[in-house]
Amino acid sequence: MTTVVLKYKKEESLKRFHPWVFSGAIERIEDAFGDAIQPEEGDWVRVVSQKGEFLAIGQYQIGSIAVRIFTFNEAEFNDDFFLHRLQSAYEVRKTLGLIRPDNNAFRLVHGEGDGLPGLIIDVYDKTAVMQAHTPGIHYIREALAEDLIRVAGADIRNVYYKSETTLGYKTEAIQTAEAEGESVNGYLIIDGKPVASAAEGKALESSISDVALENGLKFHVDWLKGQKTGFFVDQRENRALVEKYSAGRSVLNMFCYTGGFSFYAMRSNAKLVHSVDVSKQAISFTNANVELNFPGDTRHAAFAADAFDFLDGKTPGSEFEQGKEGYDLIILDPPAFAKHRKVLKNALRGYQRLNAKAFEKIRPGGILFTFSCSQVVTKEDFRCAVFSAAAQSGRRVRILHQLHQPADHPINIYHPEGEYLKGLVLYVE
Ligand code: SAH
Repeated sequence: MTTVVLKYKKEESLKRFHPWVFSGAIERIEDAFGDAIQPEEGDWVRVVSQKGEFLAIGQYQIGSIAVRIFTFNEAEFNDDFFLHRLQSAYEVRKTLGLIRPDNNAFRLVHGEGDGLPGLIIDVYDKTAVMQAHTPGIHYIREALAEDLIRVAGADIRNVYYKSETTLGYKTEAIQTAEAEGESVNGYLIIDGKPVASAAEGKALESSISDVALENGLKFHVDWLKGQKTGFFVDQRENRALVEKYSAGRSVLNMFCYTGGFSFYAMRSNAKLVHSVDVSKQAISFTNANVELNFPGDTRHAAFAADAFDFLDGKTPGSEFEQGKEGYDLIILDPPAFAKHRKVLKNALRGYQRLNAKAFEKIRPGGILFTFSCSQVVTKEDFRCAVFSAAAQSGRRVRILHQLHQPADHPINIYHPEGEYLKGLVLYVE
């Protein structure tokens, strides 16, 4: 195996089990004979200190994060390594009580949080949607899929691989395969058996159910055409909290995507529920899910509109129209405003502007659920942006709950960067 030798004293963070090696920490890279080499993206490497002391094993990458660490224990890295990691992830989800007759949508693997950097797996009923964020994971996707079936047997029968837009960097091998018409995305396993070709996957695809259950509510999950792995499982518990507060209220679910929050509100007898998303596709997903859970229920309406236009009362049919009552429960769950630190300031201004609108418009006694899923925006940053927005409105605001990502999106204690979702529930007088 290739050896990555760190600079003097650069082993400190690895000794504290942080799972990344930055390129600036590397002194040299050697092959088995001690000759300098340039590893390929995705290669397995041993990381050692300048004195030659073993530190960890990981996958090499070109870029600022040069190695993502999988283990700090050399003996653990045997043929069953991935099987064991997947088993452990699965056991945790069972412990969490997420696999039940009324719930079969959950995150099975959350990257570094589950000791598998670069890998995301979400489960929707009998289908696991696997997403690679590094070429290294891409290269081992088939073995991972087979291990997954071994681990989850009867519970997972299909594995769909969806990484076309997430690999970060496409190696020459991947680019060549794509140029030859081979899609990165596709089924790896259907009904427990490996899929031999894309054509076979297509032929069998219609036999797979796309309906998953979350706390007793049904959702069509379109992993082929939808965003991310098809559904946002990370809001499950926060949606359940909306259910607690929605009875008798007029609810606005802004940035609704497939409508998640809306159905919890409807189940708890909300007076009216409006779902808004700028994407027409999201609105059609939402409408399909209304039909699945509350067919013909006239309390619900969905609007394909921009958030600011809608909040400014520019959308016909909204409760912001002249003479209408307005909303007394508003959910704001926007996409990540900042994908990296350089744009943090702008992102914070964005959160402030958006929340200021909600504070300005929400009815007295209203409840605001407001979220940020930007990893670079800290809890404190977000709270500060929402605080500024509240101050701008001059209204009396109480924090009722501070929300975060659920337990199936665990944070590796040595990798605080894994924390990304935060939310506040506010009572607005
Ligand atoms: N709340 C959703 C997830 C939201 S993801 C859930 O529970 O599943 C963010 C959504 O915001 C995406 O569906 C995206 O289409 C939508 N969006 C992005 N920009 C928008 C804008 N300017 N106005 C309204 N919706 C927007």
